[in-house]
Formats: sequence, structure tokens, C-alpha cells
Amino acid sequence: MKALVKSQAARGLWLEDAPVPEFGPEDVLIKVHKTGVCGTDGHIYKWDEWAQRTIKVPMIIGHEYAGEIVALGERVRTLRVGQRVSGEGHVVGMRSRASRSGHYHLDPETQGVGVNRPGAFAEFVRVPAFNVIPLPDDIDDDLGAILDPLGNAVHTALTYNLVGEDVLITGAGPIGIMAGAVARHVGARHIVITDINAHRLQLAAQVADITPVNTSEEDLKSVMGRLKMTEGFDVGLEMSGAPAAFVQMVDHLVMGGRIAMLGIPTQPFPVDWSKIVFRMLTVKGIYGREMFETWHKMIAMLQSGLQVRNVITHHLPYSDYLTGFEMLVKGECGKVVLDWTV
Ligand SMILES: [Zn+2]
Repeated sequence: MKALVKSQAARGLWLEDAPVPEFGPEDVLIKVHKTGVCGTDGHIYKWDEWAQRTIKVPMIIGHEYAGEIVALGERVRTLRVGQRVSGEGHVVGMRSRASRSGHYHLDPETQGVGVNRPGAFAEFVRVPAFNVIPLPDDIDDDLGAILDPLGNAVHTALTYNLVGEDVLITGAGPIGIMAGAVARHVGARHIVITDINAHRLQLAAQVADITPVNTSEEDLKSVMGRLKMTEGFDVGLEMSGAPAAFVQMVDHLVMGGRIAMLGIPTQPFPVDWSKIVFRMLTVKGIYGREMFETWHKMIAMLQSGLQVRNVITHHLPYSDYLTGFEMLVKGECGKVVLDWTV
């Protein structure tokens, strides 16, 4: 089969022939139709410090996919061949206290599809049946291929009750934009999304009814004035990993404001903790999706009018992957979807 392989410890990604994966009794084999290219894949492509620490080459990468089950392990009873599916990209162990309590997303032994085990940028991928999410007919393969990052957005946005709240989202990448759409869907009042990339802010306004702000041109105090907000934002969703964005967020929340932080800073950075203490802010780290409550909620919201499709800006055949990866690392695109059926 064709696969995109991180085969060398250097910048780049290579289209290679690889054997169709063998699968165990609890696994399914999925024929991949569409895949989403993630920021994580961009880190692996660039071969930055995180990637060098994390990825053992050779590795087929990719973890955002939609496809069709073509074979079942002998003990799989709950799925059938021909079913359209996506899947949770974190393969959990079953030994930890968290897993045994049903909090799978808190399992410390988690392995990432396309990070620690062979991924989905290939014609076929093997995953445990436990991870498989059947797709209803009204969720097509394009949407199926971006459920993983939508799940990040949903997990972050639903961390706090947003009904009637004013929400600040820092970072207008695809996940930040989709979090804005979710916040609108569940009934937030003002939703401001910040970035310093004009292209991304323009996309944000096209995808969701939210207020884009370029913080290199306009400061948040004047935006608050424009919106007639007096005290500050009730909830912050940090999606950028940029220290300046986090500092700005802390400075523009109400007393008792709440922050959900999905963005991953590349370095430790100083924070004025006294502001967090005196203003009684809550900061919660968010990673991945809740298994499997986030999956249920996002599919149900898509079926009840949540619109995120426009976050996909490019559809490419898998053989054209380099175009997509170059756009990704330059920040010139929303979500890039690769087609594995052409
Ligand atoms: Zn991803």
C-alpha cells in the first residue's frame, strides 16, 4: 500500500510502499478514504525538537481519518465490514486507575496513532475496535476526517458552561475557529478570536459568527469597548501556545474567570501568578478528547446544526501531500484534507 512515512530523522515526509498492516483479534482494518493534516503532522514534517524527542523513525504518520472497515479481528463483535468509520487517535491501556474507572482520556499509557504507532496517512490503517467511531450517513468523509480536531475544539469549548458568556479565544488555527463555532452553537454571547495572522482571522469570520481581532493592530480593551463589555471575558480558550496570548488572556478575564488551555507552549514561560491568585482565575489543561463523551457530543452537534465544514480550505490527492504540508507550516491554510481514494 502507499503510505506517507517519516523514514528519515530530517525535515520532510516520504511517499513509500509499505505492507498492509497485520491485525490482531481485537483490531479492525480500515481502508482510508480521507485524512486531515494536523499541526502535529506539521511538527513531525518540520522535525522540530518535539518531533525529534517523540517520533521513532520509520513511522507512518497521520491520525485524522475517515474510511471503511474492510476486515475484522476474530473477537470483534460490535462492528461490521463495510461500515464507514472514523476513530479516536489515542490507544489507551486498560491497567491504570483512570482507565479502570472509565476515564480513558486520563490513561498515562496512551499511545498515539501516527505518533507512537503506525498511522492513517496510508491506504489502510489498523486500530483497536475499541477506538472505532461509526459514522452516521449525514457525516460525510470530509467531516469524518476532521472529527479528531473538532473533538479538540469541542472538548475545550465544553469544559465550561458557555451559555450567555463572553468568550475569548486566542489562536485562530482550525481548532480555535471550530471552538468559536461550538461556542456560538451552545449559546455564548460575544465570541472574540485573536491572532496575528490575517489569513486565519479572515477564515475565522467565514466559518463562524465570531469577532476576529488582529492583536498586532487592535488591543482587546478597545474591542471590549466596541462590544460594550465592561468587566472582561468570562471564559478564555487558549489555542495558540503563544506566551503573549496567554498573558493577554489573563489580563482580560473577569474576576473568577476560567481558562481552558489546549495550546502547547514550546518553552516554559513566565506568568504573573499573582494576577491569577488575586483575580481567582481557574486554568485547566485540555488534551485530546474525552473518550467517548466528546465524540458523542460533536456528532450530535453536527446533526443539530453545528457548521464547521468551511474550515477545510484545501482538498488534495494524497500524492500532492507536499503542497499541503508546505502550506501548513507557512500558516497559509485552514484544514487540508488528503484524498486516498484517487
Ligand atoms: Zn490532530
